[in-house]
Amino acid sequence: MAAKNKEKLKFSAETGKVLQLMIHSLYTNRDIFLRELISNASDACDKLRYEALTNPDLAKDSSDFAVTIIADKDKRTLTVSDNGIGMNREELIENLGTIAKSGTQEFLGRLTGDGTKDTSLIGQFGVGFYSSFMAADKVTVVSTRAGSDESWQWESDGTGEFSVAPAEKSPRGTAITLHLKSGEDQYLDTFRLRHIVTTYSDHISFPIKVGSAEGEPEAVNTASAVWMRSKADVTPEQYKEFYHHVAHAPDEPWLVLHNKAEGKLEYMALLFIPSQKPFDLFHPDRKRRVKLYVRRVFITEENAELVPAYMRFLRGVVDSEDLPLNISRETLQHNPMMTKIRDALVKKVLAELKKKTESDEEGYRIFWANFGAVLKEGLCEAATPREQILEVCRFYSTHGTGTTSLDAYISRMKPEQEHIYYLTGDRLDALRGSPQLEGFAAKGIEVLLLADHVDDFWVSVVTQYKGRNFKSVTRADINLGEKKSETKTKPDDNITALAGRMKEILGDHVKDVRATSKLTSSAVCLAVDEGAMDVRLERFLVEQKQIAAASAKILEINSDHPIIRSLVTRLSNTEIPLSVSSPVNGENKEKAPPLARGFRGESSSNDIEDAVWLLFDQARIALGETIADPAAFTRRLQRFVEKGLTI
Ligand code: ADP
Ligand code: MG
Repeated sequence: MAAKNKEKLKFSAETGKVLQLMIHSLYTNRDIFLRELISNASDACDKLRYEALTNPDLAKDSSDFAVTIIADKDKRTLTVSDNGIGMNREELIENLGTIAKSGTQEFLGRLTGDGTKDTSLIGQFGVGFYSSFMAADKVTVVSTRAGSDESWQWESDGTGEFSVAPAEKSPRGTAITLHLKSGEDQYLDTFRLRHIVTTYSDHISFPIKVGSAEGEPEAVNTASAVWMRSKADVTPEQYKEFYHHVAHAPDEPWLVLHNKAEGKLEYMALLFIPSQKPFDLFHPDRKRRVKLYVRRVFITEENAELVPAYMRFLRGVVDSEDLPLNISRETLQHNPMMTKIRDALVKKVLAELKKKTESDEEGYRIFWANFGAVLKEGLCEAATPREQILEVCRFYSTHGTGTTSLDAYISRMKPEQEHIYYLTGDRLDALRGSPQLEGFAAKGIEVLLLADHVDDFWVSVVTQYKGRNFKSVTRADINLGEKKSETKTKPDDNITALAGRMKEILGDHVKDVRATSKLTSSAVCLAVDEGAMDVRLERFLVEQKQIAAASAKILEINSDHPIIRSLVTRLSNTEIPLSVSSPVNGENKEKAPPLARGFRGESSSNDIEDAVWLLFDQARIALGETIADPAAFTRRLQRFVEKGLTI
């Protein structure tokens, strides 16, 4: 019968590459194929147990789930079987051959050529099944989907093709038979097999039985859910193995949070924070990866309510005693119990992070580098414990090269300083050189430097921390106190006149031109009014086409700066009145009658205009904006350079 309807199919291109690698390149730590097959078998049992909640008939032949491993020395085969959900013909084809999984490409991209490292990536990217080809030169899968009376056989030697054919009716579930490569007899040794199972799969909550072709196989694991055990009964090694299993991750967990909630809300939580950044952390779907169980029955992994998106770095299991077992994945979203569990978990995690900030500074630094940008997303959402999140946030600042907490920032604030100052931007090094910081540096006032994308958003939502307001240094109303120019007898009329002239020249391109105390070595910078939209947020919205165009900014000028002073002098020497009619960057002034241009030492209105436009464009560049008319900018700059060189 097997020969009838036998179909040959090609592996997807990416799967083909993965297989080649398994067969030809990965030799180290081949034992892990067993971990992957057991992990799949355990998932299959979980899936059936869940489906049987609403359709008990599916598991009617047996609800004692188990994974069985049989080594047959005569045939030189190793078979891993389970009585889980099973696969029908289409599922065999898709899951084990043709479907292009998002992880496969990623996996191939991450390969380093270092066998040990590459092997550790296998489970992470959902290519676990193919690891059986590290030890086998042929793999046969026979599967019967729960509830179906057909069995199907999948077979391949891993080189380009696989076959699918109907098979003799077999019991529910999946049996995967590895025809071992020569030299791989170690996997026929039951003693060795038991050892591997205890090392890698002791945490599996279904019995794993190991045996040979003759005699009854025996269970080797404790088969109790790790998260239900008391902390004292779980070794760090077992936590780690369980983490590898639930998280599909090769690294060590940085934080293990094992906790039992009793009282109104009863649940067990075993959560982990990875020590390395998972590859899909910033994928647009922002998947959460904490598994929900109800009284030991696996319900779902993809549940938006269990942990918030800004804690999507969490891995692990939450097992509720209160939720109804027959709950469907869809109605879970609206269950008030879920919200309560989530709020409790969030509080717990933040409290634990707070402790870590003190007990493990170096570890926390790495955690923050990996996941800080994710956690900060929580600041943007409504109804989150903002103050607790801010407490564990770390920011770069003008104080030193490392990061600081807000509490440490506050402790360094000047007596007369009211606000927590910050500057947002794309890159830390660019921020450090920003002209906006000059006045603050001169006064010894620390400024937070925010270079994560998410920073642009939370700063527009979060107004204060522990009674101190956050204030961007790009705001126009910042007064850094007395400056030399202001101690002069009276306000400088000349500066006011220059500001007026500059506003005339720049027209609608600026909202206003004003003197500022923020600058020391730069002549100008751009700012926005209090209450106006943050510069970078606005730029983002323009890019996203959510708003049509950026608003005009305020050009702030440094009245002490030599360029500004000489503009003042030139302006007072210029008799020729300016006719300001220029629509485009004043560039049509070029066609105006030649004025006193070229006579150095004499004032020229064109020189002033050129200088004003150059200053404005330079301020835009410093803010990371593009200049409106690059050609005009280049011509002006060239004229100035020419003059400078021909003195
Ligand atoms: P992953 O487990 O990360 O999805 P694998 O390569 O290990 O990737 O497995 C691919 C898919 O094949 C699984 O997602 C599952 O749908 C299916 N599969 C593998 N083994 C079994 C099994 N024993 N029973 C049922 N389905 C299985
Ligand atoms: Mg798997």
